[in-house]
Amino acid sequence: MAIEENIPIISSNLASILELSKGQLLASLETLGQPKYRAEQLWRAIYREGRTSFEDMTNLSKDLRGVLSQNYSIGNAITVLSKQSADASTDKILFKLPDGELIETVLMRYEADGHRRGRKTVCVSTQAGCALGCTFCATGQQGFRRNLTTGEITEQVLTMERLARSEDEKEIEAGTRSRGELQGVTNVVFMGMGEPLANYENMMEAIRILNDPKGIGIGARHITVSTVGLVPGIEKLATEDVQINLAVSLHAPDNETRSETMPVNKRYPIEQLIEACQYFVKKTNRRIFIEYVLLKGQNDTPLHASKLGRVLKDLLCHVNLIPVNPTGEGPYRRTEYREAQRFQSDLKKFNVPSTVRMEKGIDIDAGCGQLRDRALALEN
Ligand code: SF4
Repeated sequence: MAIEENIPIISSNLASILELSKGQLLASLETLGQPKYRAEQLWRAIYREGRTSFEDMTNLSKDLRGVLSQNYSIGNAITVLSKQSADASTDKILFKLPDGELIETVLMRYEADGHRRGRKTVCVSTQAGCALGCTFCATGQQGFRRNLTTGEITEQVLTMERLARSEDEKEIEAGTRSRGELQGVTNVVFMGMGEPLANYENMMEAIRILNDPKGIGIGARHITVSTVGLVPGIEKLATEDVQINLAVSLHAPDNETRSETMPVNKRYPIEQLIEACQYFVKKTNRRIFIEYVLLKGQNDTPLHASKLGRVLKDLLCHVNLIPVNPTGEGPYRRTEYREAQRFQSDLKKFNVPSTVRMEKGIDIDAGCGQLRDRALALEN
């Protein structure tokens, strides 16, 4: 594991310009007597070109750059730690926010395979801590601290975008990639710290900014929101005009088993959750990803498989079966690959499609366990 602590730090007590929607940015520049196209230039400089300083935006007038520098920063998170996995496929950054809260963001690199291009996926956090208390999750054990702002969410992607683009540039210089293949971040998954649907408005605003073709321009179909099942949030998401993907962490086929590890199930039991999923499919015509972390003896028996098959048989979905990566002194053990395959063939009897995702070595403790594999599963 490589640990790099002396990487560039962006820190400021000024208001972060990343908190402004495009409309607010326009209004702010208007009050400074600036024409509309200046807001477009500024937006592009921040989100497309990834500028970290107003002074570098030389297409803006010197006066405007001065005013912006006096009033705004471009993000307020401080990078306190950056780690890379031994195989260089995954980077995790620990950010400190102005009020001292710490959050994590992960960049995962996937090589091109026979039928897909290489990808760079960012996993973002939406809350500091989390109120939902899933027993298998380290964040859940910390309790809830606060929601992240829109700017704090987009800043995570912007930072990783700069990293991803600088890697692209190095490859272009080395002649292993052409300029037309400049790619940066290709996918974003909302499955870091916190429950995204519990911070709905800020999450959606961040998605709109990330999706803006004049900014970073991440396609809606390359954005996935992962929830433990907040029913009102799923119903609301179904009616949004941005066609993003939905992943639901189910992890158990019946209420009794699910409530043991996911307290949220007492508020929104499985029947209600599946109904909300059906509604999402009906409104969006999109398949849902069902995440099912296999916990040895807890939710991986043939009985659990057949119960799961019955629960999901009428839902347009794809199940990702993820044998848990045991961490620290937790009570859970990992389901063997053979047993995972048996679970999969039991599901097949109900015509429920699934994939078994074995963990790859994660040596940087990237998020709530198996993050890398869960993210990969969501993209296939
Ligand atoms: S798994 Fe997600 S929802 Fe559950 S406690 Fe962890 S961060 Fe919160």
